[in-house]
Amino acid sequence: MLGPVFSLTMLASGSAGNSALVATDHCKILVDGGLSARQVVLRLEQCGVTPEQLDGVVLTHEHNDHICGLEVLCHKFDLPIYCNRLTAEALRSSDLADRCRNWRLFATGAEFSICDITVQTFPVPHDAVDPIGFVFHAGSGSLGFITDLGYVTKLIVERLREVQTLVIETNHDEKLLQNDTHRPWPVKQRIQSRHGHLSNTAAAGVIEELLPGKIQRVVLGHLSRDCNTPALALNTVRASLDKCGRNDVETYCATQFEISPRFQIGETQPGAFQSTFENAFFQNGL
Ligand SMILES: [Zn+2]
Ligand SMILES: [Zn+2]
Repeated sequence: MLGPVFSLTMLASGSAGNSALVATDHCKILVDGGLSARQVVLRLEQCGVTPEQLDGVVLTHEHNDHICGLEVLCHKFDLPIYCNRLTAEALRSSDLADRCRNWRLFATGAEFSICDITVQTFPVPHDAVDPIGFVFHAGSGSLGFITDLGYVTKLIVERLREVQTLVIETNHDEKLLQNDTHRPWPVKQRIQSRHGHLSNTAAAGVIEELLPGKIQRVVLGHLSRDCNTPALALNTVRASLDKCGRNDVETYCATQFEISPRFQIGETQPGAFQSTFENAFFQNGL
């Protein structure tokens, strides 16, 4: 019989919009809100979660495909936004800043708790003001989350060493991107740069580096609409796992159009949760 579960559901992933639900019995967190508020609410409903149950949204960075639904969502449901100061400042002139009054700011690299989920943050290289990745811990489970990054630093590999489930960007197939006739050269260069996005091959390399750790499952995401397909991303990663004799690692590719299955990351403690949330940790307001 399973105890209470720490789980992940990808609500949407791709260059056109990103949002994920990380949940325990006591806590429901959105990672980014880059879908219309209506779509977020609809997809949460498919997970059996109402927006009123959300404890907050944590932001990876300020790009529109990660925040566009939050203005309406945060205003309507008084949802706290957890992000670093530079990301909040980048959003200062947006309607989001006007309409969301509940900002909880942390320093990049900080570790904090939202109810019974511990959130570790670390910097990632991407063309945003202060983009970050996350490791979420609850009970026996640990979940790494890196989307939108040009390459993976030693620090990132260290942070992800113990995760059992990893959400990782497989943005593009290198050949499809090179042969793409729609994108101008500077855009291609931006995507491929060290502050752009991970290719399928690059992501497969990162996963290989984590194989000596505790990794059991990888969820691929943030696929480019025209320069990748789920089959290409999955085949690249599976071929590399096969080569390492590790086809026991579960693989899944998240898409833009439908929610993923609910992945069980680990079990949590049964019984009532005593909140240890420290408001003083966060700087409020912009
Ligand atoms: Zn993005
Ligand atoms: Zn981005």
